[in-house]
Amino acid sequence: MLVLVLNCGSSSVKFAVIDTGSGAASVSGSVEEIGVSARLKAKKGAEVFKRSVDAPNHGSALAVIQNFLKEVGEVQGIAAVGHRVVHGGEKFSKSVLINAEVLKVIEECSVLAPLHNPPNLQGIAAAQKNFPELPQVAVFDTAFHGSLPNYAYLYGLPYELYEKHKIRRYGFHGSSHRFVAKKTAELLAKSPKDLCLIIAHLGNGCSATAVKFGLSVDTTLGLTPLEGMVMGTRCGSIDPGIILHLSKLGYDFEGLNKLLNKNSGLLGLSGISSDMRILLEKADAGEERAKIAVEVFCYRAAKEIASLMPALPRLDALVFTGGIGENSEPIRKKILSHLEIFKFGENGGPQVMVVPTNEELLIAMDTEEVAGK
Ligand code: ADP
Repeated sequence: MLVLVLNCGSSSVKFAVIDTGSGAASVSGSVEEIGVSARLKAKKGAEVFKRSVDAPNHGSALAVIQNFLKEVGEVQGIAAVGHRVVHGGEKFSKSVLINAEVLKVIEECSVLAPLHNPPNLQGIAAAQKNFPELPQVAVFDTAFHGSLPNYAYLYGLPYELYEKHKIRRYGFHGSSHRFVAKKTAELLAKSPKDLCLIIAHLGNGCSATAVKFGLSVDTTLGLTPLEGMVMGTRCGSIDPGIILHLSKLGYDFEGLNKLLNKNSGLLGLSGISSDMRILLEKADAGEERAKIAVEVFCYRAAKEIASLMPALPRLDALVFTGGIGENSEPIRKKILSHLEIFKFGENGGPQVMVVPTNEELLIAMDTEEVAGK
């Protein structure tokens, strides 16, 4: 089946047309800087497209994508649209066909993901308008973690906050962790039901998940995608008392939001960049702050990986994925150097694997399964 996969962010829409049979994307791209200076970037085979477009909002960005797909002869044959939706709350532990009721629940979850769910909803509305004849499926970042036991998802806060405000760990990157868990089992020629894994997704966002016999049983991201590892611009876990202290120093909600989500992590530590490739180059060239950022990133990644051990009865493999996890051997080595106690890669110890993720393909496969019913 040919599936149009859409990932709508606050100022961009990423798209790909994926053939679920071959797993290949025939065309992929994005409309970025939606607003006054929108640009279309795309590639089809070896052909690359880059141009300014008129896309003041998500609706017009979708129209730009539709026209572009027509132009390159890729619109025919698309049988369904799959949407990446960040937060599905406690309601969705599987991908679902989008209807009015589903939209209402995604809307309700916006309070838990104010930066992500509203643009996801705008994208869905625009896709429904532009592709009215196609079934639309929502694939949630949180869904794979629906199997967490309550002792893993509850925080040490008054239980009423969970009951009243649904404050708990949800976890994210679920499509990536699910895809990689399945792929790892294939590579090891085993059933997912026979494997205990820790998957470390290291990209701009970073998280690790403990997968016990095919199910997510604990994960490092929490109520929001801020917890756990140090990320590109997000701080990861910090002493919650820091927030109290900063609020005394005059930081308001907006200031804290920007600090913790946009100006922390590798960027904040280095003062140079959130991009690991750049930091590795600068560290090699002797820049102290780049070195510090890389060291903190690796130590904290190791610490978060180790924090998942209590979730598993044994560990068969630690699997690296994501832009950093897949491509940077020095980072993998540095992380493993902090985990010597677990005897990774040694005789009798857990394996270390690198398995490329493909969230778009997982969204396309789920869309086929749900829309085909
Ligand atoms: P996203 O989370 O946005 O999907 P990616 O998974 O593509 O991001 O990861 C982006 C990160 O991967 C960037 O920090 C980038 O520098 C890093 N990266 C990509 N290739 C390499 C490499 N060869 N060595 C080190 N880091 C890399």
